[in-house]
Amino acid sequence: MDHRAWVAKAPKQPLVLEAVDLGLFGPEEVEVAVEHCGVCHSDLSVLNNDWGISQYPAILGHEVVGRVTAMGPNAKGLKVGQRVGVGWDSGSCMHCHQCMSGRHHLCPEVQPTIIGHRGGFATHIRAQWAWAIPLPEKLNVAEAGPLLCRGVTVFAPLAMYGKPTDRVGIIGIGGLGHMAVKFAAAYGCDVTAFTSSEGKVDEMKRFGANHVVSSRDSAAIRKLGGSIDLLISTVNVKLDWDAMIGTLAPNGRLHVVGAVLEPIPVAAFSPSCSSAASRVRRQARLWRSRRCWRLLHGTASSHKTSTFQ
Ligand SMILES: [Zn+2]
Ligand SMILES: [Zn+2]
Repeated sequence: MDHRAWVAKAPKQPLVLEAVDLGLFGPEEVEVAVEHCGVCHSDLSVLNNDWGISQYPAILGHEVVGRVTAMGPNAKGLKVGQRVGVGWDSGSCMHCHQCMSGRHHLCPEVQPTIIGHRGGFATHIRAQWAWAIPLPEKLNVAEAGPLLCRGVTVFAPLAMYGKPTDRVGIIGIGGLGHMAVKFAAAYGCDVTAFTSSEGKVDEMKRFGANHVVSSRDSAAIRKLGGSIDLLISTVNVKLDWDAMIGTLAPNGRLHVVGAVLEPIPVAAFSPSCSSAASRVRRQARLWRSRRCWRLLHGTASSHKTSTFQ
């Protein structure tokens, strides 16, 4: 078998296309011929060793879509020829408490796809069978890659805590926020998009937002005080957090999925957000669970929630 991949030999170096030896094919592994692979900012972070955990040579790419071409003798639940997706993780122990509770992504032995494992910027990728997620055939696979990373990141809090009757706020309208607005609208939620860019108002309405509010306008944010059931922040910049948290309804939730670089202050007894501390829940790696992926792909294909349009 001719396996080729774009290989990063060292931090911040251009990728080199070359033949690679994928080694022994494990009994629980499946091999997937890659059809499409998204490019995520985390690929760049691993290429540049921004987190200090990269291993070289590295093969990046963790939004992988393709078809199963081979299955190890102990691989289950898939067929050769089936279309699957592989995301941030591609293996776990399958016997620890987390794995046995359906939280495989929290397994202490979880194997990230692009750290110490070969990713999807390649002709083929291998993954443990449980981490090759079956994709519905009617999903537009050319656009499905981002669902496997940023898509599941924002879908997870909606799937686990959102209800169609909820008022949902999405902070930040970049790659994650766009998808969050579309998912929340598809759920039937009343959606408020918070953006710092005035140019995105029409686009957000087209994506299904009922309201668009400037994330820099503290007065406008404060007018929403006590009204939002689920607030999902996708930004990594400083905000008027006091006003933002004050928009939460009693028992509302704030989920932070953006890589915030500065601490988020929570003023538990400020007038604008009384009992805010009890309302703020940390997402704690909620995303990536296999269960959420399965739900996500069903939702994305039945609502035709393509990634960017
Ligand atoms: Zn485990
Ligand atoms: Zn990613």
